[in-house]
Amino acid sequence: MPEKNIVLLGATGSIGKNTLKVARKHPGRIRIAAIAANSRYEPLAAIAHEFHVPHVALYDRAAAALARASGLFPPGTHFHEGPEGLVELAELDGTNLVVMAIVGTLGLVPALAAIRARKTLALASKEILVLAGKFVMAESVRLDVPIVPMDSEHNAIFQCLHAEPSRHVERLILTASGGQFRDASIEEMRRATPAQALCHPNWDMGPKVTIDSSTMANKGLELIEARWLFDIPQERIDIVVHPQSIIHSMVRFVDGSVLAQLCPPLMTFPIQHCIFYPDRDMGTAPTLDFSQTLRLDIRPPDTTRFPCLRLAREASAVAGIAPAVFNAANEVAVDAFVKEQIPFFGIPTLIERTLRAITPCEPQSLDDLLAADSEARAIARELLPLAVA
Ligand code: MG
Repeated sequence: MPEKNIVLLGATGSIGKNTLKVARKHPGRIRIAAIAANSRYEPLAAIAHEFHVPHVALYDRAAAALARASGLFPPGTHFHEGPEGLVELAELDGTNLVVMAIVGTLGLVPALAAIRARKTLALASKEILVLAGKFVMAESVRLDVPIVPMDSEHNAIFQCLHAEPSRHVERLILTASGGQFRDASIEEMRRATPAQALCHPNWDMGPKVTIDSSTMANKGLELIEARWLFDIPQERIDIVVHPQSIIHSMVRFVDGSVLAQLCPPLMTFPIQHCIFYPDRDMGTAPTLDFSQTLRLDIRPPDTTRFPCLRLAREASAVAGIAPAVFNAANEVAVDAFVKEQIPFFGIPTLIERTLRAITPCEPQSLDDLLAADSEARAIARELLPLAVA
């Protein structure tokens, strides 16, 4: 029996594909027990055949009906559907690791279900901690279920922190590629199109995170994510621009020593680390080649061209529902930018207007946060015309 029986939620996206690359490399140690996607059942069927996956879920019920009737899946496939289908997979008997790679906050309820079912949670969906970090981390601590971060920066910090007590840690230093507009002028950024924002220089990722990278809202979300994962306030988390994306993040200790984790900018590295942690195994892709000259530049970020960094820090400092509002407004803004309803700088404008329109309060429950999330989305949609100018 392979030792890692994995539930892969978000199998057809970028993280899902990279998880399957790792599984292909280590067939004796990894079994894919269940896969889920939103609506794209054809690629899901191909995965089910290649990896002999018995359980399949589709979030979209219409797609689930088509999938059942399609005849594309292996005989005897167990089908699950809707939000409860994701929860059923997260709790599936005989599995020990849930890879959460669903974009956005749809994965929140299944992530909590996985923790409550005592499954190690390999977390790639940063929005889950941005929205509900307080509650998710509290459950993980209460039930003593580990959350291993798959986001490359957080995975780097997780590796650097290995076995260090928190009193040794002075600061976390998140590295950012700077995205596609790292060296663009403010004028060029004003005229930026969705097609330009969707071309990342270093990383091959899904569309939402690629746009977030172009505004650096992604690093803002990661700042909030790090605050919860490592229980450290935002003022002790720095962000630096590192164009080569080789150093994935760093930790500065109280004695001034700085540890960094380095590898090529490929998601198979953090994904494989999460799957085998605390063990390690042969890498899935070739690593850095130090026989060649390797340049590593680091510089401070420009918050004038990237106001999302300032807004994320403000939201993290205010805490309460503010990070959820930041995240919700950003999702509405990115969607509107991709549909060419607002310009590039309409994204931070909409986030700022939405944050100002909502009275921050301390959520008492997950329901309070989900309500704040819906309210923020509704307000952001109402405020869209103000982000056009
Ligand atoms: Mg990242």
